[in-house]
Amino acid sequence: MRIAVIGTGYVGLVSGACFSEFGTSVVCVDKAVDKIERLNRGEMPIFEPGLDQLVANNVRAGRLSFSTELKPAVDGAQAVFIAVGTPSRRGDGHADLTYVFAAAEEIAHAMTGYTVVITKSTVPVGTGSKVAEVIAKARPDLQLGRDFDVVSNPEFLREGSAIADFMRPDRVVIGTGAHAERAREVLRELYRPLYLLETPVLFTGIETAELIKYAANSFLATKITFINEIANLCEAVGADVQDVAKGIGLDGRIGKKFLHAGPGYGGSCFPKDCLALVKTAHDANAPISIVETVVKVNDARKVQMAERIVAAANGSVQGKRIGVLGLTFKPNTDDMRDSASLDIIPALQRKGATVRAFDPEGMHEAEKLLQDVAYAKDAYDAIEGADVLVILTEWNEFRSLDWARVAQQMKGRAVVDLRNIYQPDHIAAEGFAYYSIGRPAAHPAASSKR
Ligand code: NAD
Repeated sequence: MRIAVIGTGYVGLVSGACFSEFGTSVVCVDKAVDKIERLNRGEMPIFEPGLDQLVANNVRAGRLSFSTELKPAVDGAQAVFIAVGTPSRRGDGHADLTYVFAAAEEIAHAMTGYTVVITKSTVPVGTGSKVAEVIAKARPDLQLGRDFDVVSNPEFLREGSAIADFMRPDRVVIGTGAHAERAREVLRELYRPLYLLETPVLFTGIETAELIKYAANSFLATKITFINEIANLCEAVGADVQDVAKGIGLDGRIGKKFLHAGPGYGGSCFPKDCLALVKTAHDANAPISIVETVVKVNDARKVQMAERIVAAANGSVQGKRIGVLGLTFKPNTDDMRDSASLDIIPALQRKGATVRAFDPEGMHEAEKLLQDVAYAKDAYDAIEGADVLVILTEWNEFRSLDWARVAQQMKGRAVVDLRNIYQPDHIAAEGFAYYSIGRPAAHPAASSKR
């Protein structure tokens, strides 16, 4: 089978590479000339563990190629995936579907023979039928069900573990029209290797598949926000949120994932998808007030995190230096979209702080999004002369800092760990005041090492 994937970002590139690994012939298309040029030189435009090797293997095998030209890629393809961005629309929070519809129109003009057009982008309920309308309008000679079908196949991969998530997903969701057996057969064929692994494949209607994606992301964002608020309560009453999370997470009905208290969820999906679900629900006259609250609570939390750092600096960061470890919204990605660092760092700068930061993969993107930040060559360089050390992202390399060296590098003795990667007593014993999330602050005893 030959397919085309339109949009070669985190989802499109990983999906294209994985489908080619399954044995399908794939052309990945992107309008961004620089991305395609880099891919054709064997360079990855994004950081995703294992992706370079997977791409190289499949390019070598002749199953995977990259192009800026949509027409030849779509011409004769049996399936075309739309994997373009669906960011929040400026001003109202609805998903911006401009890229999806533009891609659909281009696909329509390029299609020959029966083609399944599949939205892999996260799109609001009703988008599938609008995509069908866009195609029908562009090509009145084509008939839905005869010449083409539109399918919703939302993607659940996580950046940082995207390949494993795609290759061994918890489930595959495929939404089709009622009479689209031919389309279902194409999708079954594409995902056949996963059937062999007994991956649950859920066939639903298009609207249901579209909603599953938003419901899943909003639920996860709600779970994170719940534990973040429990963390606030823990701080107020002297309890430990790590233990609370463990205590509730061991209940099989709750589960222990997504119960890590932190600076608030970020990234390219949860913030925009929660907002888009809220808008869809309002438009449908079925408001989801729990998700509306989650959005408000999470936005406010990022501001509170900056205040927490100011408090750790004895109430003022004016003229002080903050050493920041981690900028991306989570480890193992270079994705900076909606990262907590984008709210916290400017808030500190507005209060007069200077910021020196290090991130293993995110600094290139961060440079475009943050102003007046000095970028360091490693963690120790970032905290040189710092009054406060802030851990913003839990990259593995920050989990075992040499605290004697940290003490030598830093001017101050305050550590704010927004990811709870250290034990309070340990860091206090190293001579630091340690502030984390949902756990009592720890201060160096008179008898501490330093
Ligand atoms: P991205 O911004 O990394 O990539 C989108 C790509 O599409 C860009 O390279 C852009 O140049 C390209 N593009 C836009 N219009 C085009 C067109 N007409 N023709 C060719 N290329 C075009 O986005 P992403 O993070 O991969 O997300 C894509 C979609 O998948 C979004 O809807 C997102 O919500 C969803 N999603 C993302 C993730 C994730 O972890 N990033 C996970 C699941 C779902």
